[in-house]
Amino acid sequence: MRKTALSAIILATVGWTTSVAAAEKPVDRAQWYVGDNTTSDDLRRVPVPKGFGEPADVILIRNARLFDGTGGAAHPAQILIERGHITRIASGGELIAAPKDAQIIDAAGKTVMPGLIDLHTHLTYGEGGAATGADGEDDQASAALRGAERLRFFVESGVTAIRDVGSTGVTPFVLKEWVWAGRIPGPRVFPAGQLITGIGGHGTEGGGRTAPTHPEAAVYEANGPDGFRAAVRLQFKRGADLIKLGSHFSPDEVKAAVDEAHNLGLKVTVDAETIFTRMAVEAGVDCVEHPLPRSDETVKLMAAKGICSDMTLVPYQYINAGGGYMGSTSRRFTETNATTLAMAKKLQDAGVKIGIGTDLVVGWYRYLPDAYLQELRNYRLLDHTAAEALVTATRTNSEILGMADRLGTVQTGKLADLLIVDGKPDEALEDLKKLDVVIVNGRVVVRGGHVDLARHKQDKPPYSTAPAQ
Ligand SMILES: [Zn+2]
Repeated sequence: MRKTALSAIILATVGWTTSVAAAEKPVDRAQWYVGDNTTSDDLRRVPVPKGFGEPADVILIRNARLFDGTGGAAHPAQILIERGHITRIASGGELIAAPKDAQIIDAAGKTVMPGLIDLHTHLTYGEGGAATGADGEDDQASAALRGAERLRFFVESGVTAIRDVGSTGVTPFVLKEWVWAGRIPGPRVFPAGQLITGIGGHGTEGGGRTAPTHPEAAVYEANGPDGFRAAVRLQFKRGADLIKLGSHFSPDEVKAAVDEAHNLGLKVTVDAETIFTRMAVEAGVDCVEHPLPRSDETVKLMAAKGICSDMTLVPYQYINAGGGYMGSTSRRFTETNATTLAMAKKLQDAGVKIGIGTDLVVGWYRYLPDAYLQELRNYRLLDHTAAEALVTATRTNSEILGMADRLGTVQTGKLADLLIVDGKPDEALEDLKKLDVVIVNGRVVVRGGHVDLARHKQDKPPYSTAPAQ
């Protein structure tokens, strides 16, 4: 009898612990910011003062055809943007009076839509062949300049937010801050920092360039569960918005990394294949990159656990066109266009949420904007309509990013990241080539299809400008 009562107490305690654990799901830690707090416009959601860092710009878009990314049909609208946010949308014939100092954009005959999101970039990776000198793989100066160049390619392609899943040292964090402050043109950057893998893991092939745990490399090679925790904490300290893991690792290592990241409020995505995908899925990662081989049971488990997938079909098409990819320790070199598409279909059919990323390494970013457009075309092969492919590129991608409350659709209250396209891309994807205006964080960054750099603003000097007597 006593034994039964004791078991009941133990069971009740275990049950209570489980329900508390479910309510306090670590990756959702931001939900505890309450009251009048405002938080940073990124995944970390650090509390900031009201209006912190908001641009002064006021923009009124008139005569637009609005495809808002919610899944509804396009309709006539006017859109008011103030201090980085969409503050009002008027549909039908209603006119919004232009506030004082508003910049007016006439979008007659054009479509306004949410900015595209790219879930898989490497802003700073070298272009291959040059390990030293002006294009040094791991020197921060070259990495920063490569990143700044690529940011321009992305934003001129209509990409207004990128999830950077592995870049050199501290560089992606610096690039993020410069874009956010409006100092260089580009999409918002959500950096993972260094790609974390086991010693000799994916990303270190051809290696010997850097020692494991080299602080300025693009890849951090960790060893053991404690080593993986330390690697996660280093990226967190530098300002990571998420954590990127790469196979290989042991079950204990990937579990430790996921546990540490989730406790810090960071999502985890992983580049893995075969048995490593299974380990990562069991450890509870949030997203799996690439259409690489995995078992049907793992696909089922991904769907059951709500683990997303970022397809990145286009790089495999480039690899195959170039004769196949033979240099990776990851089991991806036998993939063909047919096998990658089949895996994408399998994930989609199993109910896994799939998103869009381009993974443009080496010099492939020079294929933009077609590279992103090609990934959208690939979604047509997955039976998406043009409109559905655009919703995946915007709203669904913002959900996978964890930013659906602020990005991904053109709605009142959202951050103002949007495009004006000459045509109807929701009916004909190829119309995206006729990109006119790109607005990032409420600032016009692209006009007439290219980066629009206004003359720099001079600050008032701390001395009199009266001529000397
Ligand atoms: Zn990648």
